[in-house]
Amino acid sequence: SREIQLASRPVGWPVPENFRLTEVQLPELADGEILVRNLAMSVDPYMRGRMNDVKSYRAPFALDAALDGGAVGEVVASRSAERKEGDVVVHGLGWRDYAVLPATSSKKVDPSLAAPSAYLGALGMTGLTAYAGLTRVAAFKPGDTVFVSGAAGAVGSMVGQVAKALGAARVIGSAGSAEKVAHLLELGFDAAFNYHDGPAKQKLRGILGEGSGIDVYFDNVGGEQLEAAIAVMNPFGRIAMCGAISVYNSTEAPSAPRNLATAIGKQLTLRGFLVGAHQDLAGEFAQKMAGWLADGTVQADETVVEGLENAPQAFIELMRGANTGKMVVTLP
Ligand code: NDP
Repeated sequence: SREIQLASRPVGWPVPENFRLTEVQLPELADGEILVRNLAMSVDPYMRGRMNDVKSYRAPFALDAALDGGAVGEVVASRSAERKEGDVVVHGLGWRDYAVLPATSSKKVDPSLAAPSAYLGALGMTGLTAYAGLTRVAAFKPGDTVFVSGAAGAVGSMVGQVAKALGAARVIGSAGSAEKVAHLLELGFDAAFNYHDGPAKQKLRGILGEGSGIDVYFDNVGGEQLEAAIAVMNPFGRIAMCGAISVYNSTEAPSAPRNLATAIGKQLTLRGFLVGAHQDLAGEFAQKMAGWLADGTVQADETVVEGLENAPQAFIELMRGANTGKMVVTLP
């Protein structure tokens, strides 16, 4: 079986030399364990943080050991009564062809409902992040004006579409190219802008018009766009702090936001969150999302890269914005 190991820790932007494809011997199955042939694996921005040797909410990846992360695969051998051969499961041992794990560390999914990769994106961690961040963390309510950054990405595209489905007055998205902006409008966003085209604050003011602001900002990127959002928030606006990808690869402290103190007068709520703390919403979310996908309310875009050997490149390109929707690596 093959796996991708962390060969060295990236300094700034990750490069192919930080990764190594290695052949390994699979261990024998112990009692209660399953052998899974991975069908698809996730590459996620949070993995960048785990490549640094710093204490965070997740332990850093070890050097010269396989990386891990969300994956979906088929059970090909089982020594557990909980799972049988042919079951399709989501688990945490991506970045390898085959995974050996306790059956209890896997979640069975229904392959007749959606393609396996959907359980890494719209119907998985990504979708739940969008749903929990919007409905609970940002306390979204119908009639809100919503701004989401990283809007053409996995989480962001779900946030915008779910906000529309739940009755947002207006949904504004930002993304890194003209193609992505056009795509957001196709997805039903009311307005969108390319953050490379000028200061985000100016773009937002232009879209909103005089006297209007945003009630909810779903922040995937931090930095300048967070500062811009704070500047145009309505009183009592809520910011769900989901991610800060604009600073993940920088070696210096961010220079924005510089206007945090205005959150006081506006009585804003800025609330960071981790999807793992909102698993209690998983059932409600899965039911709603399945309905929205089935009736076309929500479109789940994917950018697919084939082959385990290409996973490092997929990760590097994700950080650079090569993806529209969820970046997944399929293992044919
Ligand atoms: P995406 O699919 O959104 O992929 C990352 C995107 O970030 C790229 O496509 C790129 O799009 C954009 N990007 C890269 N650099 C910058 C930059 N400097 N400024 C603005 N945008 C940039 O990834 P995910 O949907 O998986 O994740 C989105 C965010 O949510 C991340 O910050 C991630 O860490 C966070 N997250 C947090 C979770 C939590 O529990 N809190 C759970 C899951 C994700 P573009 O072309 O538009 O630049």
